[in-house]
Amino acid sequence: MTATLITNIGELVTNAEPDVIHDAAIVLDGATIAWVGPAIDAPAADQLVDVAGRAVIPGFVDSHSHLVFAGDRAAEFEARMTGTPYTAGGIRTTVAATRRATDEELTSHVAKLVHEMRRQGTTTVEIKSGYGLTVKDEARSLAIARQFTDETTYLGAHVVPPDTDPAAYVELVTGAMLDAAAPYAKWIDVFCERGAFDADQARTILQAGGRSGLHGRLHANQLGEGPGVRLACELGLVAVDHCTYLSDADVDALSSSGTIATLLPGVEFSTRQPWPDVRRLLDAGVTVALATDCNPGSCFTSSMPFCIALAVRDMTMTPREALWSATAGGARALGRDDVGAIGPGQRADLVVLDAPSYLHLAYRPGVPLVTQTWIAGRPHL
Ligand SMILES: [Zn+2]
Repeated sequence: MTATLITNIGELVTNAEPDVIHDAAIVLDGATIAWVGPAIDAPAADQLVDVAGRAVIPGFVDSHSHLVFAGDRAAEFEARMTGTPYTAGGIRTTVAATRRATDEELTSHVAKLVHEMRRQGTTTVEIKSGYGLTVKDEARSLAIARQFTDETTYLGAHVVPPDTDPAAYVELVTGAMLDAAAPYAKWIDVFCERGAFDADQARTILQAGGRSGLHGRLHANQLGEGPGVRLACELGLVAVDHCTYLSDADVDALSSSGTIATLLPGVEFSTRQPWPDVRRLLDAGVTVALATDCNPGSCFTSSMPFCIALAVRDMTMTPREALWSATAGGARALGRDDVGAIGPGQRADLVVLDAPSYLHLAYRPGVPLVTQTWIAGRPHL
């Protein structure tokens, strides 16, 4: 192993103790962080990287994305911006394009989006299927996603395909499609929403996934209040995503279950929905993660810094809360303790910002501040 000393870090955010270190250094031993502390105390290493006073933060953990798709829905976005509301039905447009695409086309499109994410500081990404909705197309979507991440999620229950009986489709999702998808998936997810799947269907699908060794997560309460958040808490899922419309009972369920609320502010931005009430969640002791939900319909951003800026400006998170939720929060939402923080033993995933402080992520929205993204001890920029 080659030890690398990254030094002259003006401000280091660790998500550990101490949380913020000025004039800091990090020593990497291969893919792992070996030492963190004041630069003046740093041990010797084989090679030295001087970041010239820039800020260093943990790599972003984007715990919710839908990158395996073809086609684009810019026209639908344009219509929405001129008054047409978002509904779950638009997913079918992408399904048709995805089924027509070759494996090579889908793979190179995912590669392009993952590269785009890395350039913006994302070091761990979860990728869902859900635009195939046939046994073959869900399995190949997950096989392609697996080439880019271990955090793959089977979302055959994204929407019921056109001209399909819902009960028969749930049987397929929990039967032959699950069998074909499970070898490539870690997680199983359901879009529990009006126009997609109800609570009973979601429970059946998540329990079937559990029997095949998949861990559950859920899309819930995006378009209105509903049973999804309480179902996720009742089933003890690691995370429930969206949480835009929450009743008092939903907030109580989240705070007593420990299920993480993953907020996706890019969706509210791109669909002109109200912002989730993050203060209510944080005040109740709920753990909050932030993710992009990068997808061609409701939110086509791959940028975690953009989501942080929205969370701070429009959801009233503090800059420190937003950064934590986009890194450590995302790691927890994926059940990971090896990423999301900078400390000895952690995977060496870090981001060098062309800024003196992490505060610039929200203070300078839309500005490409990420100058280097290190994944498992290797620079990707
Ligand atoms: Zn989603």
